[in-house]
Amino acid sequence: KMDVSYNIAAVVLAGGRGKRMNSDTPKQYLQINGYPVLYYSLKAFEDSCVTSIVLVCGKGEEDYCRKEIVEKYHINKVKAVVEGGRERYHSVFNGLKMVKDSDYVLIHDGARPFITEKIIQDNIDAVIQKKACVTGVPSKDTIKIAAEDGSVAQTPDRSRVWIVQTPQTFATSLIYSAYEQILQMPEISVTDDAMVVETVLKQPVYFVMGDYRNIKITTPEDLQVAGSFLDH
Ligand code: C5P
Repeated sequence: KMDVSYNIAAVVLAGGRGKRMNSDTPKQYLQINGYPVLYYSLKAFEDSCVTSIVLVCGKGEEDYCRKEIVEKYHINKVKAVVEGGRERYHSVFNGLKMVKDSDYVLIHDGARPFITEKIIQDNIDAVIQKKACVTGVPSKDTIKIAAEDGSVAQTPDRSRVWIVQTPQTFATSLIYSAYEQILQMPEISVTDDAMVVETVLKQPVYFVMGDYRNIKITTPEDLQVAGSFLDH
């Protein structure tokens, strides 16, 4: 395989509080089929060709993550467990600081347990060619953009609408510099990593086909759906 010569890092994000789950335990530590949500994506990266993993967790959760997840399930590629920040993009930047020696980095939501080997490999193959990639799936639903007053402002052509997932994968120097620049900007609203590249760099970001099962565990019904995916 051509990728073995590259240093490829994965930043796995588990620094959110998961307010929409209505649970005292953050969603990434809730269990599905006897394992914490976060275990599944760490295991997928462990078994992939990535070189190292950096886990970003909530403030004060580092020891819990090290003992109860990384050590317990032998995720040996984890080289650092670091504290996240207030917003997702703060957490990402804390993770990126630890992987500056890598050539490429996959940034993944720890709340997406159903990442597959194929998604990881397709991202790596794509980033080597394209430098900036985002995993997504074509939208099955029509998407509308709302106006402030609650009316419909726009209906984008459905054949061009994609639902964005993670991993989002970049040449490390490119995403690091994009984050450095956007963090200097006074008012920023950043919900994914591709946006950072789209906003501050001229570099195009390319889609990589994801999987309709690669859902983000956000609300209690997502846990039920996740359980049913593992039953079949
Ligand atoms: O909140 P959202 O669903 O967008 O979170 C996506 C991922 O980012 C989750 O895995 C969550 O743990 C992580 N996150 C984080 N730091 C934050 C907010 C979210 O690491 N401040």
